[in-house]
Amino acid sequence: MKRTIKSQKVILAGAGPGDPELITMKAARYLQNADVVLVDRLVSKEILTNYVSPKAEIIYVGKQCRRGISTPQKTINELMVEHALLGKLVVRLKGGDVSIFSNILDELEALAAHNIPYEIIPGVTAALGAAAFAGIPLTARGYATAVRFLTYYKSDVVTNEYWKELSNTEDTLVFYMSSETLLNVVEKLTTYHIHEDKLLAVIEQATTPFQNVQVYNLYDFKRNISATNFVSPTLVIIGRVVALHENFKWLENNDSKEFYFKPLNQLIPNLQPEKISNVS
Ligand code: SAH
Repeated sequence: MKRTIKSQKVILAGAGPGDPELITMKAARYLQNADVVLVDRLVSKEILTNYVSPKAEIIYVGKQCRRGISTPQKTINELMVEHALLGKLVVRLKGGDVSIFSNILDELEALAAHNIPYEIIPGVTAALGAAAFAGIPLTARGYATAVRFLTYYKSDVVTNEYWKELSNTEDTLVFYMSSETLLNVVEKLTTYHIHEDKLLAVIEQATTPFQNVQVYNLYDFKRNISATNFVSPTLVIIGRVVALHENFKWLENNDSKEFYFKPLNQLIPNLQPEKISNVS
């Protein structure tokens, strides 16, 4: 299984959604050989302690827009490029999958601009982790034929026409990065008469020991809930498939409200507030 790994290469790898065992063997193998690991906030600490060689340098480069703090993307690109040009094996470890709601494009462009070789290793994205650990099959036969990964982080990206379509589709809707805007999401979908049978699941800290799943009727949610209390990270699944949670859940909720992923300012004490445009 052991192969010789050339240096001066960047590995862009997904770490999975939380449970450290959900990382791929390939990513784990590269972590064992890495000289430098550039890591996001939503990556299990256990992955770093279990797989990364003690000789490697671990650099936190997370972003946390809700708290207004982050590592600028430019800094991340520069760190990646600089270390690779020094002949080091760099692993850029991202939460979930590398290509879902992440800044991978910026990073790929930076690598290409410097002719640095790279590999991309997929990861279990939060939607798939949450669906599995909540017992909600996303495209269950008879309940949905497709699934969409969405975000309402920036309110301007979704037109009213699109909301109307989202309200009427039979596809399962998964919202990333949307816990702060959840009331607006529900407001829009109910305005366009989403069917009462379609339920909404809020899944906090999916696949971690603190996972908490709450299921709501969208019309009740609008009446009763203030969306600000959810523990980050939170994923939202909307559709008929959510009803299956009741029958097929296999993990008890943990209501402790403890954080599995530490806030960024605890990982990087000197981090300054910074305006940025994307979260990972
Ligand atoms: N690349 C990541 C997503 C990054 S965007 C992936 O593929 O999963 C960050 C958003 O992902 C969070 O705001 C949240 O909506 C979701 N997320 C990531 N990990 C999560 C987890 N363990 N539980 C619930 N949501 C999660």
